[in-house]
Amino acid sequence: MRRLQQRAPGRRLIRGKAAFLKKTALAAAFLAVPAGILSGCGTKEAETFSVTNFVMDTVLQETVYGSEDVTEDIRALLSDLETEELSWREEESEVAQINARCGAGERVPMSDDFYDWTAVSLDLAQKSGGAFDPTIGDMTRLWNIEGENPTVPPQADIDEALSHVGYENIQIEEAGKTIAMGAGCTLDLGAVGKGIACDVAREYLKEQDGVQGAVIAVGGSILTYGSKPDGTAFRVAVQNPDEENGSYMGVIDLTGTACVSTSGDYEKYFVQDGKRYHHILDPATGYPSESGLSSVTVVCPDAGEWKEYAGLLSDGLCTACFVLGEEKGMELLEQYGMEGVFIDKDHQVTVTEGLRDSFSLLSEDYVIKESE
Ligand code: ADP
Ligand code: MG
Repeated sequence: MRRLQQRAPGRRLIRGKAAFLKKTALAAAFLAVPAGILSGCGTKEAETFSVTNFVMDTVLQETVYGSEDVTEDIRALLSDLETEELSWREEESEVAQINARCGAGERVPMSDDFYDWTAVSLDLAQKSGGAFDPTIGDMTRLWNIEGENPTVPPQADIDEALSHVGYENIQIEEAGKTIAMGAGCTLDLGAVGKGIACDVAREYLKEQDGVQGAVIAVGGSILTYGSKPDGTAFRVAVQNPDEENGSYMGVIDLTGTACVSTSGDYEKYFVQDGKRYHHILDPATGYPSESGLSSVTVVCPDAGEWKEYAGLLSDGLCTACFVLGEEKGMELLEQYGMEGVFIDKDHQVTVTEGLRDSFSLLSEDYVIKESE
């Protein structure tokens, strides 16, 4: 990615939030390994650098294996990604500028990276039949599930917000890398921000000679990179949707570089009149999606047509699959050639074929559905 190559070495970067502002439920987690393991070849010592920070409104957990500690560089890169590009709250960010100018009816130029992220997001919107929609930001803000006292919005407000939602209202043009939007429509890449962060981290790591392997977990999106010094697989845990943080339904063993994201209805929600309202919205209704699933985990490899966007896609695909439900979600994964784990409300677990050998069930409360 161009932006990363241009960064001058040692450039001082803006600091993100130093403290954890709130407790965020992690959808998936990297199972920790002992520090300071010797590298596989036995000649060069690979150290383990582990650090936890708060960035992009979520917990950032970094584990880097190698001779060089690049954890702070990655944290700073992701903090920049948030403030300079993806954050709605930063007036100067690229997304805020695009929305301000497009709202005034202009066709607006985009950076190369932003253009690519938007193009992949629109491809996913189209292939998912609008189940994933990057124009849903107004609806998310209306529900304000992360606010102080969220309540179900009045139907009239939902209808009003719905009238602005629709990825078809965005036109991008490849030659000049420009975007134009219909009146009232807004672009929000927040739903894939953590996945984009994994992509940015991966491209940076590829340029670091001193790094052998890494696990970078940005909220519910996790990048596994390279290899572990002891040669064992990376173990990515899938949260048990019924339990508190840290209780796992299963684990996926991964070798090499990949991105894994989970969307679950237990992550962010409120309860009103005994009913649970969660943060994954169905763009067709404006209400939290009810597709019979509790969570979807998607794995995208560092290979094939989408390799540069493995993080973005894993993040967007798990949201899309959650909204679509198991059957259509599986079809969507097939279209992209990606793998996943679906957990339904009856505690049935469906694992796509390519993951069956690497997935292990950890909780007795769940059963793996027999494949046809
Ligand atoms: P996050 O990416 O915030 O960790 P998810 O991956 O579960 O969480 O995605 C849900 C977030 O994406 C919501 O907080 C909301 O901002 C946005 N969102 C919710 N429903 C949709 C949807 N159908 N399409 C696109 N974005 C959505
Ligand atoms: Mg997401």
